[in-house]
Amino acid sequence: MEFTEQQIQRYSRHIILNEVGGKGQVKLSKAKVLLIGAGGLGSPAALYLAAAGIGTIGLVDGDVVDLSNLQRQILHTTATIGVPKVESGKRMLSAINPDITIKTYQLNVDTENILGLVSDYDIVLDGSDNFTTRFLVNDACFFAKKTLISASMFRFEGQLTTIKPHAGYPCYRCLYPEPPPAGLVPNCQEAGVLGVLA
Ligand SMILES: [Zn+2]
Repeated sequence: MEFTEQQIQRYSRHIILNEVGGKGQVKLSKAKVLLIGAGGLGSPAALYLAAAGIGTIGLVDGDVVDLSNLQRQILHTTATIGVPKVESGKRMLSAINPDITIKTYQLNVDTENILGLVSDYDIVLDGSDNFTTRFLVNDACFFAKKTLISASMFRFEGQLTTIKPHAGYPCYRCLYPEPPPAGLVPNCQEAGVLGVLA
């Protein structure tokens, strides 16, 4: 593919890196990344992926923007309170980079839809806020042989893991065989979270 003058300018700081170059930028423009959750974790990931020129970004989230989200969910603004997060996210990402394709899925993932969703993408980012979804996304990526970047945060702590069982490494269930009992781990609403952590 050929870049336009504007695209060369947009991605110039990538292209001058020997390790990326024009070839790397073409790869990024052909990449498809699915984000499960357009919240605290999905926000910074989506912003940087869009800015970097990832060609196709999928946003999955069933919620609408709430005022209490804005302290950390930097994909959304005061003007999009009440708007579905995927729509609010699409507006922001398109404003940053009009060259890329943003696909929106205003839904909660379940056993019926998850395999179809992940199969259209190269890499999946899980920034969901509950264990049912985490295990579901892991299982779908396991069977679809997709690389999964799994992140989570709690109060002042966060963790991030790359999961590639198709390359011989452990999956999420190898690390955490069972979800914790319901109610044991409080969510952000119950426990609070430092915004910048995301
Ligand atoms: Zn496993």
